[in-house]
Amino acid sequence: MKIKRQTESPWIREARAAFSANNQRMTRPRLQVMCVLDAAQRPLKAEEIRREAGLAETDLVTVYRNLEALRQLHMVQRIVLEDGVQLFEAVRADRHFHHVVCRVCHKAEPLDACAGHELEQQASRMGYQAVTHVIEVFGVCGDCARRQAAAVKADPRTP
Ligand SMILES: [Zn+2]
Ligand SMILES: [Zn+2]
Repeated sequence: MKIKRQTESPWIREARAAFSANNQRMTRPRLQVMCVLDAAQRPLKAEEIRREAGLAETDLVTVYRNLEALRQLHMVQRIVLEDGVQLFEAVRADRHFHHVVCRVCHKAEPLDACAGHELEQQASRMGYQAVTHVIEVFGVCGDCARRQAAAVKADPRTP
């Protein structure tokens, strides 16, 4: 994957700046992982990121390490599905939001409300400090629900 500096997206530039502010070197695999995250249309598994970045199977550890580094810099957020599968996606412009994630196709759409702040305030009143929250909402998206319904109809075993 070839990347020209002048055509880099704002997210890549921001992540690059965050790394250099933390005295962390930009490596080729790191940049490849970043480009995949930047172009992704939905949250991806580390394995999907590895494959799309054109990295070898043995580079999966490197992918995880870079995802963790990006997460520490708040440039990437992790979504943990109900079955423990982890998905990663770029965080843009410091906007705080939660997703509803399709448990079938892993499509994730932002929700425009957050109940977390109320919960955090409650925790703060209880004397907790450095309070944060993680909220994930799961469901089956409209497309997948229709596909599933069509599959049931097409199955001759159903009356
Ligand atoms: Zn879906
Ligand atoms: Zn929230």
